[in-house]
Amino acid sequence: MRILLRTAALLGFALAIFSSVDAAEKIFQAGAATSNITPPLGELIVGGFLPFPATHIHDELHARCIVLDDGTTKLAIVLCDNVGIPREVFDSAKAQIHKATGLPASHMLMASTHTHSATTARGPSKVIWEDELTDYQKFLANRISDCVRRALNQLEPARIGWGHVDEPSEVFNRRWHVTNPDLLSNPFGGIDKVRMNPPRGNAALVRPAGPTDPQVWFISVQSKAGRPIALLANYSLHYVGGVKSADVSADYFGYFAKDIEDKLGAKEQVPAFVGIMSNGTSGDINNINFRQATPKYEPYAKMQEVAQKVAAKVHEAHKLVEFHDWVELGAQQVELPLQVRQPTPEMLAHIAQLKPEEDAANGPKSRDHIYADRVGRLKGAPEQISVPLQTLKIGDLGIGAVPFETFVEIGLELKEKSPFKNTFTIELANGSYGYLPTPEQHKLGGYETWLGTNFVEFEASTKIVKSLLALFEKSKTPAPR
Ligand SMILES: [Zn+2]
Repeated sequence: MRILLRTAALLGFALAIFSSVDAAEKIFQAGAATSNITPPLGELIVGGFLPFPATHIHDELHARCIVLDDGTTKLAIVLCDNVGIPREVFDSAKAQIHKATGLPASHMLMASTHTHSATTARGPSKVIWEDELTDYQKFLANRISDCVRRALNQLEPARIGWGHVDEPSEVFNRRWHVTNPDLLSNPFGGIDKVRMNPPRGNAALVRPAGPTDPQVWFISVQSKAGRPIALLANYSLHYVGGVKSADVSADYFGYFAKDIEDKLGAKEQVPAFVGIMSNGTSGDINNINFRQATPKYEPYAKMQEVAQKVAAKVHEAHKLVEFHDWVELGAQQVELPLQVRQPTPEMLAHIAQLKPEEDAANGPKSRDHIYADRVGRLKGAPEQISVPLQTLKIGDLGIGAVPFETFVEIGLELKEKSPFKNTFTIELANGSYGYLPTPEQHKLGGYETWLGTNFVEFEASTKIVKSLLALFEKSKTPAPR
């Protein structure tokens, strides 16, 4: 009997030790930081048809980072105020971080917000691969690396919650069926079935060629005492715009970061609170209500209005969020090979008959010549590229990462088919390979499908969705401990 009691006491003692070790392991931590990535004046602003030099900084550009740690796995998510950052820049930043901290590259999700008023992060080739990094690209990689390393330095015990709210009033599908064939010409001498950004309030407008996604997702981390550390939101809105020409600005993404900081009462904290707005799947979604004539806005007014509205919605939903003391983290990554599109004989015939432009030495001016130039640059492209696809797991929330300006249909399909209870996608993540329409949208034509705006095979989005769903499935299976 005594032996039995002693054994039971020992067993109880052993169990107590075991469970206290288990509890000690389960400390969830979070950290956040920003890096200023503002370029020098004179760098080229991109996002429109033709680049032009920056002459003023309206607001500074940032890399904004959250790092999470479940005691076993660490994840870093970084959003950069840029229109699209090539893989080579992100890979350089990831290599630096891995060398300094041991964090695996596959556990870092790095993406661009897609502000159209940042300067280019592309090298001179301007297509889908980079050679040597330019000075700004090197600076960017260093600053992204510093951002993640600073966030890692600031890891502290934390709790995490997430939620979503609908804001349908600021998202519009920008591809339209129209009755006027003059609106449907493409730069290769053909006629499309839909028009991107048709004239506003025009009688020729019939209906949008696709849906929108009104969901705003957010992840919130706070200290054990309830001090806000960071909030990362996700909305499928291309950008807002309305800047002064040649100004550098982070667009509504920058304003949202400030607005959510205000609303959460997180100003002037040490370490500073970090608000982040990531881009969902907005390749065909923008902020223009095409049914109405253009309303008048002062520069920067519209983007502030949108940021305020979205931040207010997120703040309301945030009040209902359930915070968790610990959730399991995970990351999956795969390389997907995709064929690079080649010009058709019809395209080449159209390009061959274009009359040379005056002042051609200073670059192409007309739409057809710009696309002829882009197609020409594809001559040195590889036949196939390998694109990184990634998923992150944060408890029962799954995040997909796609290195394209991704059509909203793709994000909606991932949300519907994902094995996770909650899912959203961050576009332009871990690289920037142009637009990603669905095969159905390719058939309709339009700007986003033109060779030179889109570079990969028509079936790319089908393959990408399949791969991401497989990664989600894989990360649903608990990792062996
Ligand atoms: Zn864009």
